[in-house]
Amino acid sequence: MSSLITSSYSRKNPFPSLLRTNRRLTREDSSKETRHYEVSIAGSGLIYEVGDSLGVFPQNDPLLVQEILERLGFSGEELVPDPSGEMKPLREALLRYYAVTEPSKQLLAAIAEKDATASHFAIFSTPEAKEHLEKYLWGREVIDPLLEHPQVHFTPEEFVKLLRKLQPRLYSIASSPKVYPEEIHLTVATVQYESLGRQRLGVCSTFLANRVSEEVPVSVFIHSAKHFRLPEDPSRHVIMVGPGTGIAPFRAFLQERRATGATGKHWLFFGEQRRETDFLYREELEAMHHEKTLHRFHTAFSRDQEQKIYVQHRMLEEAKELYSWLEEGAYFYVCGDASRMAKDVEQALQKTIELAGGRSPEEALTYVEAMKKEKRYRKDVY
Ligand code: NAP
Repeated sequence: MSSLITSSYSRKNPFPSLLRTNRRLTREDSSKETRHYEVSIAGSGLIYEVGDSLGVFPQNDPLLVQEILERLGFSGEELVPDPSGEMKPLREALLRYYAVTEPSKQLLAAIAEKDATASHFAIFSTPEAKEHLEKYLWGREVIDPLLEHPQVHFTPEEFVKLLRKLQPRLYSIASSPKVYPEEIHLTVATVQYESLGRQRLGVCSTFLANRVSEEVPVSVFIHSAKHFRLPEDPSRHVIMVGPGTGIAPFRAFLQERRATGATGKHWLFFGEQRRETDFLYREELEAMHHEKTLHRFHTAFSRDQEQKIYVQHRMLEEAKELYSWLEEGAYFYVCGDASRMAKDVEQALQKTIELAGGRSPEEALTYVEAMKKEKRYRKDVY
């Protein structure tokens, strides 16, 4: 049915949406800033499903662009080709089309060619130098090698050709179209940190947090995630592990399953640093728990006590019940940090099966592999 309704908007032709809501979820005195956004897709014809992500085309920080222009002695009015070859004023090209944070290998090689003191950059172009390159790039942005080698100059066109294309960022959607057909909600941590004595700002998260006004459209598109769908059978139970911004798709799942009257049960494991300052969507989740949309709800606040407590610790405490849900055919979902959390949660899942199912480590591994094969174990990690 819905295949007849198609939108002309896509990654290649993004929809100019308006940001209707930009609200801080973490308290002012939290060490983190995580925000809730509501983007209007009214009139776009865009259709999304829970599990999908929203692609957002950011714009770079104008102060950083100004600093680069000043360092290179440009006014910003110079005409340069954008990545598709169309001529644009340099300032606009740096704001909208080129990445001015991650330096490319080509930029480093070009600096090495122009300045003998940067000759060590030349080895970064070789395949063996991956580790050296990563070490050098850690905490550095395009401005850093430029300031480190102040005598290096480029023509405006030469410079932009050494930059990467500015890419859209994908955020897991935190709303259900059954409840919000004309809106998309996002849960985004604002990335800000210091390195080498400079304040660094995440490109898209600070664009959304600080530089989008209600009148200026943001270019967006739907990125479909067919691997991260709810069970087709509404009577299946759903277990969700979503610490931090990993909560986003599960807020959408819960809205969807409530709206469709799904009969399966829901269990959420949520974790953050501190209960008082970082409990994202606390009221909504507690209300869902109270009304029994959320049948079981476990939280892990890592910094409320001396020893870290993470979601996987709560899973192990609940091993018996968790295993019985798995045995009843529950789907298991994980969303959030890929580098450590998702791996640790997978280990905890195996341990749960060992402990509560009385299985050997090999049998538990086979059990988890079978869940993956049956697509009952789904991940959205970043
Ligand atoms: P987050 O940093 O993932 O933190 C959420 C909660 O998970 C915190 O309580 C945190 O505890 C805890 N946590 C840390 N390590 C964990 C582990 N191994 N297993 C289970 N829980 C763990 O939250 P976020 O705000 O969503 O993160 C924002 C963004 O930063 C995401 O994109 C995330 O992937 C990214 N991130 C990147 C890295 C990295 O090194 N590249 C690391 C973390 C997050 P504590 O903070 O008290 O340890």
